[in-house]
Amino acid sequence: MNAENLLQKAQTAHRLNEAELEFLLTEPAAEEALFQAADEVRRKYVGDEVHLRALIEFTNICRNQCLYCGLQAQNRALTRYRLDEKQILSWAEKAVQNGYKTVVLQGGEDAFFTVSRLTPLLQALKRLGVAVTLSIGERPREEYFALKEAGADRFLLRIETTDRALYGRYHPGMDFDNRLRCLRDLKELGYETGTGVLVGLPGQTARSLAKDILFFQALDADMVGIGPFIPNPDTPLKDAPKPALTPALKVMALTRLLLPQANIPATTAMETLEPRGRMKALQSGANVIMPNVTEGEARLNYALYPGKACAAEDPSKCRGCLEKQLQAIGRTISQGYGWRVKRNG
Ligand code: SAH
Repeated sequence: MNAENLLQKAQTAHRLNEAELEFLLTEPAAEEALFQAADEVRRKYVGDEVHLRALIEFTNICRNQCLYCGLQAQNRALTRYRLDEKQILSWAEKAVQNGYKTVVLQGGEDAFFTVSRLTPLLQALKRLGVAVTLSIGERPREEYFALKEAGADRFLLRIETTDRALYGRYHPGMDFDNRLRCLRDLKELGYETGTGVLVGLPGQTARSLAKDILFFQALDADMVGIGPFIPNPDTPLKDAPKPALTPALKVMALTRLLLPQANIPATTAMETLEPRGRMKALQSGANVIMPNVTEGEARLNYALYPGKACAAEDPSKCRGCLEKQLQAIGRTISQGYGWRVKRNG
């Protein structure tokens, strides 16, 4: 196999098979060319504008036991919180004043937030004139339907890994098929649907990452978030090897080649591994950033992994800080809602 030929093919046909993806993931000589190809495809299909999404981490209470995640129910070291509606809306209003056009509500799987509690919140958020994204985990189809009716536009639910054995190992008590069901329901119900994976989980192979990318394509994901797995000292995976940025960047770049129109964030976990990691990601296929607008204690206690980038920053300064960094790489902040573009060519 020849990396140059494969990348050329991927850049025009947006197709690669499992073996080809695996080859590009493991061939160090192809790295720079891969990032450049993804950057060109990004520019051609989604342009130079970067969409900013204001992230509100509204609860860190979670019923699940995901072995890698600091929010897992068994972690006693974490101070738990749940924001009330007034607090959520006040940060959302601030985000709107700061120019954000999307608010993302993300949290653990917290049973307190029933459809009847979320409905008035979604309605109030919609009155602010923003697109609303939910990232609240697995729910029955009826609930996804009701939340869509209440105003939710988009939903993020990473599959985390498409390797069933690995998924089973890292998600005790959870069911891979139910997660798939959720993603299919969300798509069918008309949500802009986002998924994604962790890169660097112990036991994960290049072959399984290749399958992950093909899964995003088969789902026709509207958004794909890829992040390096960062070991959390308060979880069972605390002794996992120190992660690197490049493998996650490669998975992200290949995702751009195969899903040219998708919205792909430069993730906070990437920035955590390397200062300006997000800018690197934006130059390797990404076109979205999700600044955290959560304030105070909550900002510190949404501790998925240690050392989260910008955790100590004042969120009102994020936009200006990013604007400068973006300018330096020839990119601008989008004034639009940043819906997924659907264009041929
Ligand atoms: N409960 C929601 C949101 C989970 S938190 C849901 O299930 O979708 C958002 C994401 O953080 C997860 O999807 C996971 O991929 C990521 N994450 C969790 N722990 C992490 C870690 N240790 N390192 C990097 N990313 C992590």
